[in-house]
Amino acid sequence: MNVPRSGSATCRGAVRLPLLLALVLTGAAALAPRGAEVFEFWYREILPRWVDATRAVGARVPFSLSQVSLLALVLLALALSWRGVRAARAEGARWTWPWALLRPWIAIALWVYVLAVLPWGVLHRRLPLEERRAWPALATSEVVNALRREAAALARSLESQGGAELAPRTEENEAQLSLRAAQCGLDAVRALDPAPPLEASGAREFFPRGALAALGIAGIFLPGWMEPHVEGALTPAERFFAIAHEEAHRAGFTSEAEANLAAYLGLARAAEGELREAALVGLLLHAEGPLLDPAHGPPIVLPARVLEAARAARRRAREQRWDAAARSAARVNDAYLRASGDRGGVRSYGVFPELLARARASGL
Ligand SMILES: [Zn+2]
Repeated sequence: MNVPRSGSATCRGAVRLPLLLALVLTGAAALAPRGAEVFEFWYREILPRWVDATRAVGARVPFSLSQVSLLALVLLALALSWRGVRAARAEGARWTWPWALLRPWIAIALWVYVLAVLPWGVLHRRLPLEERRAWPALATSEVVNALRREAAALARSLESQGGAELAPRTEENEAQLSLRAAQCGLDAVRALDPAPPLEASGAREFFPRGALAALGIAGIFLPGWMEPHVEGALTPAERFFAIAHEEAHRAGFTSEAEANLAAYLGLARAAEGELREAALVGLLLHAEGPLLDPAHGPPIVLPARVLEAARAARRRAREQRWDAAARSAARVNDAYLRASGDRGGVRSYGVFPELLARARASGL
């Protein structure tokens, strides 16, 4: 049985076009020195237009473009595999059949690289925030002390407001706070960097609910469509922090440490107690040792609501995480972060407290 000739040509094109794009763009980005003006140009001129365009498209459809794209990619993979199997059977025992089977998967991998990794990778070649802002390097003890001062000050601001003043939690109130959390992330990006003017978009819930939690992930951001998604089963504090974090990605902060820093700084200066509480819970989850370990001095006195929210977040993560899946997801995420230029990989998430201490030491 013969495979139709046009199908085979399409399959070859599906490999060659992304391969060409990948080679040309990766080569050009690699040749320009890290921090070159071309990456700033991408950040200031291309990114905002891209975000506006995807926002305009996204506003017209009632579904998540990222999730539909992921589904389309899976269907394409299945279709190409079927075509590969047919081609392999037609080739019989000749040596070319492994190539016929591999080709669809190579095509998919190349398209994912060109659409999702490459545009983000270009932005990663801007200088890291601490180099651009010349933040001082700190000794470990200085970092610990700065974090303790930070948490104590934020705890005082929450205590002075008083837990009783927090508005009762309703669905409408929660939606408003979610949008405010996104705005906080965006405002912090602007305070740290001359960022493109954008409107906050908030985040969609990832469907199906519980899927990201099983993988041990709070939120996901596919650079192609610039649509932030968060896990629907998060506790409120985690949710606000994740929304502000994803919004910082949308505004062009590629590093996980920088996105966490923007989420914290934005939420910590919010007028709403719930959002400042989310900032403190986020800091506690990332820097429990410096704040509570007696080795660093008497534990910082934190409001009972904050300690309970952090416990609830840990409990949720433990109960919902599917450990084997979460471990492979962490490996995939690590590879993704490194491939797109975040040199710390998944460790980058945990670097944020140190970055916060350095930012404060520079007077931010
Ligand atoms: Zn992130």
